[in-house]
Amino acid sequence: MISALQALDELRNGNRRFVSDIRNSNALPTHARSTSLPIGQEPLAIILGCSDARVPAEIVFDQGLGDLFVIRVAGNIVAPSQIGSVEFAVERFGTRLVVVLGHSQCGAIHATLEELQRPTENQSRNLRSIVNRVRPSVEGLLETELKNDFDALVHHAVRANIRASANQLRHGSEILETLIEKDGLLVVGAEYSLETGVVDFFDVQPTTSNG
Ligand SMILES: [Zn+2]
Repeated sequence: MISALQALDELRNGNRRFVSDIRNSNALPTHARSTSLPIGQEPLAIILGCSDARVPAEIVFDQGLGDLFVIRVAGNIVAPSQIGSVEFAVERFGTRLVVVLGHSQCGAIHATLEELQRPTENQSRNLRSIVNRVRPSVEGLLETELKNDFDALVHHAVRANIRASANQLRHGSEILETLIEKDGLLVVGAEYSLETGVVDFFDVQPTTSNG
């Protein structure tokens, strides 16, 4: 299995290809390629991304079948089932890079900010469970000058939410925390720009381990 930093390079290079409209022909998903895959998967990275239809991880990182272990949920939030999925992949496949992939103009962030500014009574309990996980990282922003500039508010809120999810993965699981300390696991936060196609890995905290 490749190291976290090697995997990060692969993703950066893949995103550069995507932005330049160059596709790696090995990444094209075909049935013939699917039948040539090994029996077990060896994903180079685990991606916790938003469900937004415009941000499919395999495409924006120009990766193919078997390359990424992807968890998608509105607002790239971290609930127990997301942590469990990451634990499963790091333990089962040895993958050492986890990317929380948020994006500009995220609808879940919009919905949370709107709910904080104008609470509604009839929001479904299930949708509320997503809003409630985004809320702690963004509500403080409404007490700053950002509250007067909705676009800037959303921009900062998207990043705050990505940082919060990355930190929850870093510290919300003993399994992950131990692997970060002792075995080269790296959890990074990144934002995909719908406007440019560029993924900005803005929250990369280097490991101090020997991994
Ligand atoms: Zn989104």
